[in-house]
Amino acid sequence: MNEKIYDTLIVGGGAAGLTAGIYASRARLSTLLVEKAYPGGQLMMCETIENFPGFSGGTCGADLSTALREQAEKFGMETLLTEIERVELEGEIKKLHTADGKTVLARTVILCLGARPRLLGVPGEAEFLGRGVSYCAVCDGFLFMGKKLAVVGGGDTAVEDSIFLTKFASEVHIIHRRDKLRAQKIIQERALANPKIAVHWDSVVSQIAGPDLVNKVVLTNVKTQQESDLEVDGVFVLIGQNPNTAMLKGIIDLDELGYIIADEDMRTNVPGVYAAGDVRKKLLRQIVTACADGAIAATAAEKYIET
Ligand code: NAP
Repeated sequence: MNEKIYDTLIVGGGAAGLTAGIYASRARLSTLLVEKAYPGGQLMMCETIENFPGFSGGTCGADLSTALREQAEKFGMETLLTEIERVELEGEIKKLHTADGKTVLARTVILCLGARPRLLGVPGEAEFLGRGVSYCAVCDGFLFMGKKLAVVGGGDTAVEDSIFLTKFASEVHIIHRRDKLRAQKIIQERALANPKIAVHWDSVVSQIAGPDLVNKVVLTNVKTQQESDLEVDGVFVLIGQNPNTAMLKGIIDLDELGYIIADEDMRTNVPGVYAAGDVRKKLLRQIVTACADGAIAATAAEKYIET
């Protein structure tokens, strides 16, 4: 066991976690950020970020994440790349157990666990993963140069990423289960004006098929139940996310969808434990709100330690 007791342990290195790191370490709390993959989280999946205040020309997710990490580390935040597998959050000293057998100790914990892509759950989805099925346009879009693509979903991610995918693909077919998109109006306007994008309304993908690589999806019209084939080379499933809170069940109060319930100071029901970013039940999941959550959580943690 590493006997050092950190003032603050941040779990998750997306926008919320990195901002919490800046505020906590600048408040001179000894701060450790634990991230299982690479700092940046879902920021790394954003090609251009247009709505982060102060960047009128837009910014790129990877640049923003690198800048946030450098800023936090400049003030003393330490980073550990490993996965937290189990947590003991009761009492004054919290114990968090990593997948590689370590235990880290802290007086306060800020949970910035984010969310992972929601699955469609249709035949062919798992089978063609990496062979035409993807959950990340920025990661895999370039693989589909001159190809035809289906994008499932009608939210900001699906519609914005459809526009991004037209850089590579010859055609992008948005498959949406209703007759109205959920995405912000400005994003909708751009997509609907893009000659490479077609929208299939009231439709769901009921099967993904192909010989070796994806070569078609079967669409079902939810109003008429009529089925049709759409020839595509790839399918981007962009239908939202599920929070990464499985290890917290029975430990922290969650809502019916699994999001952490926290108050306006990011306090959970467990003293000394805070939640920030997409993992928290809230109205607006954006980089700017993730950053705000992180800043508030770190400040609340500082006050908790002081009293
Ligand atoms: P989302 O807003 O939850 O949208 C998910 C979309 O997928 C909805 O259109 C939903 O349909 C559809 N859907 C859900 N389950 C489905 C299923 N099983 N089969 C078919 N369709 C299904 O998710 P998101 O677009 O990933 O966005 C997540 C959060 O990030 C949001 O708060 C969003 O505003 C934010 N975001 C913001 C930006 C930006 O500001 N530029 C960019 C990306 C994401 P219904 O509409 O019928 O529910």
